[in-house]
Amino acid sequence: MQTSDVLIVGGGSAGLTLALLLATGEHSQKLKITLLEQGPAPEPTAPQLQRVSALNQASKRLLTALGVWQGLTANPAYQQMDVWEADSFARIQFDAHSQNETELGWIVDNQQLCQQLYQRLKQYPQVQCLFGCSIQQINAGDEQNLVTLSDGTVLLAKLLVGADGAESKVRQSQQMPLAFWDYDHHALVAVIKTQQPHGQCARQVFLPTGPLALLPLSEPHLCSIVWSTSPEHAAQLLAIEEQQFNQALTAATQSALGVLQVQSARQKYPLKMRYATQWQQQQVVLVADAAHTIHPLAGQGMNLGLMDVAALAELINQQMAKNLPWVSQRMLRQYERWRKAEAQQLIAAMELFKRGFSLPSPLAKLVRAVGMKSTNQLPFLKQKIMAAALGNSGDLPLLARPVPVKD
Ligand SMILES: Cc1cc2nc3c(=O)[nH]c(=O)nc-3n(C[C@H](O)[C@H](O)[C@H](O)COP(=O)(O)OP(=O)(O)OC[C@H]3O[C@@H](n4cnc5c(N)ncnc54)[C@H](O)[C@@H]3O)c2cc1C
Repeated sequence: MQTSDVLIVGGGSAGLTLALLLATGEHSQKLKITLLEQGPAPEPTAPQLQRVSALNQASKRLLTALGVWQGLTANPAYQQMDVWEADSFARIQFDAHSQNETELGWIVDNQQLCQQLYQRLKQYPQVQCLFGCSIQQINAGDEQNLVTLSDGTVLLAKLLVGADGAESKVRQSQQMPLAFWDYDHHALVAVIKTQQPHGQCARQVFLPTGPLALLPLSEPHLCSIVWSTSPEHAAQLLAIEEQQFNQALTAATQSALGVLQVQSARQKYPLKMRYATQWQQQQVVLVADAAHTIHPLAGQGMNLGLMDVAALAELINQQMAKNLPWVSQRMLRQYERWRKAEAQQLIAAMELFKRGFSLPSPLAKLVRAVGMKSTNQLPFLKQKIMAAALGNSGDLPLLARPVPVKD
């Protein structure tokens, strides 16, 4: 039997970041941590760019504090955003300069982020990472949690963290209730080459079938696309020849960057809203996609998950600083209240966007066009929207807060 204080199930961005936060926390570094991942260890390779995420300033501050950001090579910044509707005059544009910022966000390779986190984690002997593991059984208790692996290994830990993604086994094994609905969209993801340079601008066009995002990569003519559309349309886009796909993509973007050519495999992901109505019970707690998944149209899912783990690590450190038990029902409930409030706001905002843009009537189009045009001309409102998207507002964990400007 192997014993630790914290057992983290899931070695994605959230699980690895939590392990590193605990290993480096002023007080929590005394804790013994085990991280359990079903896949292989993320070993260094060149960024594949197959899955990338737009990260905001809050995530950058957190990952910088952990010494991870500095090692990410494929994280080009974008200074502008251009969002428009394909068949109306609705358009809104943001630029870093008018927000008194130098960047609006960064495109980070998911795989490279996990590799960097793991490389850092290896420096901490109090963290044990187990890869290629399959869980057979989870027994949660008031004092200890017991996890049995398929090879018979038994792991015992005081706190069990479910960082095991959307289909979380931890959440399911504890029968923590889940609210969900289908966005009726599949997201098609690929790397594409653009005829015109992207100019460090993140673009998103709202089509009648759903949003299509073009995220600028390091090379001036390379973008990552996230094309959210009906499941039938996504299946068609996957099945057609490359040349036909290029034509469909170029047409869908209204040739905003000229002729587009796909450069990688096309992959699709079904999109669902998931929200666990309970994030903790006994000494089990959920973080990130295990607790919530949202539509990728605003590129906020990973940002939200990283803030979850920063909040949890901060509360554990606070307890230890006060010489209180480092894990308690009260503290886990405090974490749940804090992070649920943030997740609920984003879920509601995504729903508003998704539903708002799927209404096809001419009146709805007119309302959207007028709304976006007016917002575009109101610097104060734009500033508010951007502050939220940049991760500069809201109830942020300490490590992710903007540094106050001195008078
Ligand atoms: C198309 C698309 C585009 C997106 N774009 C953005 C974006 O631009 N910006 C953004 O902020 N977010 C974005 N997101 C959301 C983001 O990808 C997720 O929120 C984030 O990756 C979730 O991280 P996680 O660590 O919680 O889960 P995951 O990345 O799913 O990691 C979970 C880990 O747990 C492991 N695991 C699962 N079950 C077990 C088990 N039983 N035992 C052991 N290990 C297990 C898995 O192997 C995996 O490694 C996007 C999502 C999609 C689908």
